Amino acid sequence: MMAMDIREKLPILKEISPRLVLGHIMRAGSISRADIARQTGLHRSTITRIVASLLEEGFVEESGEGDSGLGRRPVMLSLVAGAVHVVGIAIESTFVAGVLVDFNAQITERMEVPLRDASRDAVMADVYGVIDSLLERAQEREITVLGIGVAMHGIVNSHQGLSVFAPAIEWRNEPVAVNIESRYDLPVRMENNANAMALGESWFGNGQAVENILVVKVGSSIGSGVILGGRLFPGTDYSAGEIGHLTVLPGGPRCKCGNLGCLETVASIDAILKRGRELLKKGEAQSLMAFTGGDPNQLNFEKLCQATFARDPAALRLWEEVAAHLGLALSYTINILNPAKVLIGGDVFPVLDYILPKVRETVGIQVLQPLKSHLRLEPVGLGQDSVTIGAATLLLQDIFELPKSNGWDHV
Ligand SMILES: [Zn+2]
Repeated sequence: MMAMDIREKLPILKEISPRLVLGHIMRAGSISRADIARQTGLHRSTITRIVASLLEEGFVEESGEGDSGLGRRPVMLSLVAGAVHVVGIAIESTFVAGVLVDFNAQITERMEVPLRDASRDAVMADVYGVIDSLLERAQEREITVLGIGVAMHGIVNSHQGLSVFAPAIEWRNEPVAVNIESRYDLPVRMENNANAMALGESWFGNGQAVENILVVKVGSSIGSGVILGGRLFPGTDYSAGEIGHLTVLPGGPRCKCGNLGCLETVASIDAILKRGRELLKKGEAQSLMAFTGGDPNQLNFEKLCQATFARDPAALRLWEEVAAHLGLALSYTINILNPAKVLIGGDVFPVLDYILPKVRETVGIQVLQPLKSHLRLEPVGLGQDSVTIGAATLLLQDIFELPKSNGWDHV
């Protein structure tokens, strides 16, 4: 475990009951003391005492009167959103992004810098630069920051805060969280980026109140986070959900993992751009050429998106190929996990409208009938902020005790 615990900074939260009450208020938005007592099973007098402490600490406020039908109207309680802020950082293979979020995971500051180079010191300097700026803004606004969550690509040992392996920048066993913690004297939590995304979606996005969710991140690489029974499932070696290396095209292109035809070799953004350039060079995507100034090598993600939004047939065909491969890999995974929701996000978020119909069609054919009755396939709810908000959620989950949902049939 990390050395520091956010609860040490907030003595009132050392006990479970105040965290449970906060969790109910957060989920409800606005709720009466009587309803908290009903939902938690805690005695009314206990709730009254806990709420009095939370009011005194400035974490919750009385927010008008609710509707009780007959009789006295109950006083409603809601979170003081600005009472607590945490930082969420995403270390991606080409940029570092950071956000400052409040108690409700609403972003109040945001920034992003491209990585200058991939050396360890340069990456960490960019990470510190983003955190420094966010903390400076927090100080200007007289906001108290309680911790820092970090989402990192590659394999992350979330208990020790280690980047075990980050192939894109060739890191092995880097004690990222410990370094950040000692520099800022704040508690730090760290997770793989797809896992953080899954956690954020589960708490604040399209996965709320859903027990079993697969959250897929499609960018220059492809990964996923798995929520089972309402909790993040990391796997034995922190590597659950590596769907990017499912074989979808036997004998296909060589993957960086050594195998042939992995999903990542045909459906990542790098793969689709490579395929697009090949088609352009062979003269098989003439309409797309107008967006690259006549030079196939000028095709990048931004230009491909422009062509897609203009409904260029060659661009749409490229996404359709991606969607068919992605749909196949998702079908294998859905058949194993039986999730109620599959959420897709990552860099492809802006063009998901052009991918999802074909993904749904493929899944509809490949997935076993009984697994389809509750299945929903949707974009992530937090959009392009889903990783940074997910990183911040690593800290927020230490504050709130999540009200456990009460069944397995949440859809
Ligand atoms: Zn592979």
